[in-house]
Parts: sequence; structure tokens; C-alpha cells
Amino acid sequence: MSQFPYEGWSFAGAREPSRFGACQLDDAPGVDHAVGPRGTLCGITGRPLTTYRHLFAPSAPHSCPRCTDLAAAAPTQPSTQERLHDRVLAAAPGEVRDALLAALRRGAAVRLWLDGPAATLTAHYARLGELTEGAGAAAGALASAARPGLAEVEAGELRYLVVLPDDGGAPVVARGPRTAR
Ligand SMILES: [Zn+2]
Repeated sequence: MSQFPYEGWSFAGAREPSRFGACQLDDAPGVDHAVGPRGTLCGITGRPLTTYRHLFAPSAPHSCPRCTDLAAAAPTQPSTQERLHDRVLAAAPGEVRDALLAALRRGAAVRLWLDGPAATLTAHYARLGELTEGAGAAAGALASAARPGLAEVEAGELRYLVVLPDDGGAPVVARGPRTAR
């Protein structure tokens, strides 16, 4: 099992490169380009192209060098921990919320993040019966949102549950011991 907190972990260091879809020009096949806002990222527009399910692979032998350069220069994206941290900031202040924010800043693993799943699925993953702090509020938030999102964070011996209302309301944070599934 990996150690937590992770030595030297930071939001800045954990940011991820932007990823792009892959496409090829129909009249110049064999070269992958990154999908840009209009046509290819390297600026080819107005020519028929086919997009693929796989992502653009920068620096691959069949990849356009200009697209590779532009993909590398694109702004990095926040890690899962940073994105969840920014959502949890809106939760009601309290010891559990603050401990979760601190854990996310140290790289605690986000094991699950469901956005607006079916209520039965959410209840299954929430495991409300295992929570020891904030269980009532979490159950209430789950019951009152039409399509609640759910995130689960594991930090040491603790499991945090975050209920994310789909109406932009404040997230609700609960906590319990980490148990085997
Ligand atoms: Zn290109």
C-alpha cells in the first residue's frame, strides 16, 4: 500500500497535460493531427477530416509535429484532487471539511467521482451506514437532490464522502473509517 500523505505532492506538480482527440485529413491520410476548435490544432480548416476514438499522441512517429508542439504548449489541467478541492471549498465550514481539504492538498486518492448518477447507484456507493461523522447531513443531501454527484476520498485510515448537489448548492462532507469493500 502506498504511503499517505505523499512526500512532496502538490496541486502544481499534479497538474496534467491537456489531452486532445485525434483526427486525420481525408485527403492526406497517415498523419494524426490533434483536434482543434475548428479543424486541426495546427490550423488546417475547411478540409474533410475523420476523427478517431483514440487521443492524439504527441511525438508519435505518425503525429503532426506542429500539433505536437501546440499540444505541449496548451495550458495544463488541474488534477482530480484539485478539482474536488475547489468544489469542497463551498461546503459548510467544519472540522471534517477542513480535514478533507488538507488531505486533498496532500494528494489523498479520489477513489470515485460520479456526476449525477441514478439515485439507487448513488446510495449503493455512498455506504451511508459506514459513516460516523455527518452521515445524517449526507443522507439528507442525497435524498433532496434529483441527480446528486458523489465523490469518495481515501486518506490513511479514513474515508470521506462528498455529496455534490446538481443544482450548484454547497457540497456536504461526511467521514467514516476506511473499510474493506
Ligand atoms: Zn497538425
